[in-house]
Amino acid sequence: SKIVVIGAGILGASAAYQLAKSGVEVVMVDQFHEGQATDAAAGIVCPWLSQRRNQAWYQLAKSGAKFYPELINALEKDGEINTGYKQVGAISIRKDNNKLDAMEERVKRRREHAPEIGTITRLNQEETKAVFPPLDEGFSSIHISGAARVNGRALRNALQRAAVNLGAERIHGKAELLTDNENVNRIKVGKTLIEADKIIVTAGVWAKEILKPLGVNFLVEAQKAQIAHLKLPGVDTSTWPVVMPPSDQYLLAFDDSRIIAGATHEDEIGLDFRVTPGGLLEIFEKALKIAPELADSTLFETRVGFRPVTPGFLPVIGPLPNFPNILVANGLGSSGLTTGPYLGFQLAKLALNQEVEINLEDYPIKGAIG
Ligand code: FAD
Repeated sequence: SKIVVIGAGILGASAAYQLAKSGVEVVMVDQFHEGQATDAAAGIVCPWLSQRRNQAWYQLAKSGAKFYPELINALEKDGEINTGYKQVGAISIRKDNNKLDAMEERVKRRREHAPEIGTITRLNQEETKAVFPPLDEGFSSIHISGAARVNGRALRNALQRAAVNLGAERIHGKAELLTDNENVNRIKVGKTLIEADKIIVTAGVWAKEILKPLGVNFLVEAQKAQIAHLKLPGVDTSTWPVVMPPSDQYLLAFDDSRIIAGATHEDEIGLDFRVTPGGLLEIFEKALKIAPELADSTLFETRVGFRPVTPGFLPVIGPLPNFPNILVANGLGSSGLTTGPYLGFQLAKLALNQEVEINLEDYPIKGAIG
């Protein structure tokens, strides 16, 4: 059987990799739009501290985090060493110890069903500053050893490369669905026509446009995210944990003396690629409030990406109603690095008519159709 994947961000690249691994014929088509969410994202895999109550979301994010070590292992066996993933742990920082008590209790309770959380350690003010030196005085924290950071760009590249090495074909270009036969099982990329048994649409915020010719009003919105990369020349940041402060913005480090601060959540402005003073002001205000020493770091790079958001901020996955050959997954929002590899794995299973590990009714496609 032959399967086409339209869109090779983290989600599509993961599906293509799993499909190629299973031995079917796979064609990955990606336009690599400016603002691809995966390309801008450098983030956290640590869903267990979230106060979000939605169980469907939590189960998916929890499974996604748990799946990572297994995936990274498989990629390494396939020769992909540079996956951008590292289990450096995370610290959740607070000045108020009562808040930390409540958090510690919550995460300990969650660990009963999620041993991958690892070791939970309370760090006092000195210990907290020791693990992430630019932090301001006065923060204590909870350290979670199972948390990780991941560079979306690096992981996407590793998944795509591994898929190609396993026999997948990769085409750069804009895919369009051909609606000239009842089955809708053909696409067009430029002048090339490709027929497939299944078509997987993992096109992020651009999925609306792809599905329109089918008469489907797909309700995905773009949430703009700006993010800043700083450097601390000469400082070895390679083992620093992810920092989760009380605000909605985080700090994390990468190997090359790099600290990442972000990201903004900008709704209802559409595909606006610009880096703005207002966006950077928000990022720096929040970052410097918890780590004033970063005021003198080097501003090295800024990125903009569009998080795909579906109604209720809940991912959707499954066959498109009335179009059984078309499988769609979308709406990964602000936790797509966490859920994307796992959800892509489930998509591959669906395309191969295998049993999935998730309850599809919890993530219904029809909830994203207007
Ligand atoms: P995308 O990565 O946007 O990929 C969609 C792809 O489809 C694109 O390459 C596009 O070109 C292609 N495409 C679209 N239409 C067509 C077409 N017609 N033909 C061919 N190709 C097409 N998540 C976390 O878990 N933790 C974090 O800390 C975190 N931080 C983030 C920080 C930022 C700045 C951003 C932007 C996101 C962050 N996320 C994080 C969220 C995560 O990055 C996204 O949810 C995820 O990357 C979405 O992946 P995707 O594959 O669905 O979409």
